[in-house]
Amino acid sequence: MELKLYNTLTRTKEPFRPLDPGNVRMYVCGPTVYDFAHIGNARPVIVFDVLYRLLRHLYGADHVKYIRNITDVDDKINARAAEEYSGLPLNDAIRRVTEKTERQFHEDVAALGCLAPTDQPRATEYVRRTDGTLDMVTLIQKLIDHGNAYAKEGHVLFRVDSMPDYGKLAGRSLDEMIAGARVEIAPFKENPMDFVLWKPSSENEPGWESPWGRGRPGWHIECSAMSAALLGKEFDIHGGGIDLVFPHHENELAQTRCAFHSDRMAQVWMHNGFLQVEGAKMSKSLGNFLTIRQLLDVWPGEVLRFNMLRTHYRQPLDWTATGLEESRVTLRSLTDIPGYSDEGAAKFAPSVLDALADDLNTPQAITELHVLHKRGEHEALAATLRAFGLRRPQNVTQVDSGKVDTLIGARNAARKAKDFKKADEIRDELASMGVVIKDGPQGTTWELAR
Ligand code: AMP
Ligand code: ZN
Repeated sequence: MELKLYNTLTRTKEPFRPLDPGNVRMYVCGPTVYDFAHIGNARPVIVFDVLYRLLRHLYGADHVKYIRNITDVDDKINARAAEEYSGLPLNDAIRRVTEKTERQFHEDVAALGCLAPTDQPRATEYVRRTDGTLDMVTLIQKLIDHGNAYAKEGHVLFRVDSMPDYGKLAGRSLDEMIAGARVEIAPFKENPMDFVLWKPSSENEPGWESPWGRGRPGWHIECSAMSAALLGKEFDIHGGGIDLVFPHHENELAQTRCAFHSDRMAQVWMHNGFLQVEGAKMSKSLGNFLTIRQLLDVWPGEVLRFNMLRTHYRQPLDWTATGLEESRVTLRSLTDIPGYSDEGAAKFAPSVLDALADDLNTPQAITELHVLHKRGEHEALAATLRAFGLRRPQNVTQVDSGKVDTLIGARNAARKAKDFKKADEIRDELASMGVVIKDGPQGTTWELAR
């Protein structure tokens, strides 16, 4: 059996040959922690967890490193912190937001049956380090020294013209990108496509001292620094959602290659397709924005996980209530076998391994689970389900409607008293129970988010 993976960089499915089979290394871009993760964010988390499990099976659990970062410095975080904890100094407010959101994220993805990665570095811990580990400031300085970046007006920018094959990952030339991009024109940019490595911070914004003044890093440099610090300047697999190809991964690739004068960053670049909800792009205004937390109040985590794996990771996925119900019934029937237990040895059956080895073909793997079921190979089926991180679907506690009514009453009272902060907190509490409320002429109604 040979593992083949589709590589966005070469646009082909290639045999996977780790740089060092004794130390297989994968980096996946993690969440920016300012709000509950939505079900689209769960897709890369689940997909790369399955890949991590497969790599551990193939190379041995001790020989695979999986890094998924936490982005805890970002202007969206600052804005959320100022809004949510307006009475606190910004730095304290930011800490509250990032710590709370990071905790929620870990709880959510654990409920989806995902293993903890080997390391989950926080970006703020890699801006400047005193222990000799590579950090963002050092990396930026290297880029300036090599002529790949320039400092201007407190900013440091990457000079895209200094890299001849900038745009290779996205498959676009610099000219095409300039024509198509909504790039920020700034007087201090040599080329409108130059992107920020460092920017100045005002006194109350988070900031670090640097050779270019007090400031904070841009988003892309975070991943270049953390991946190099923890995996080395070249590693095996870099993953994330398809929206990250450009600009995020293109820019990571440019930074890392130029900083280390190397001709690659990761050998294989993998991207999951986008998830939609009931045929529409998820958005708060359409009312179809589903957080993992809301879904977990209604559906068992293993059903969410199974539903995610029924579609091949590179295909678009339409997330529907009907699909979830089918997933629940199917997973239930696959686990309704003599001698089934959630606990016990975990081992992929050979037919399932073959499917996964073909660029992580999980729909085919699920077909193979049905074959095992039909043939009565119950032990192999149960062991394979466990290897996938799947279990028999648990019942989810239903929402207590008395509590919902009490909370809606309290929210209406708060609104009447013009205490909108309290009213919003109550709405959020209801949302975390999976309850969506609607204010209409007849008063407030509610329904379960599904
Ligand atoms: P973000 O916090 O937006 O940077 O997203 C975190 C991860 O979730 C990235 O790998 C994104 O590509 C991925 N992602 C975000 N939205 C979706 C979606 N609707 N479908 C699939 N992946 C998504
Ligand atoms: Zn990244």
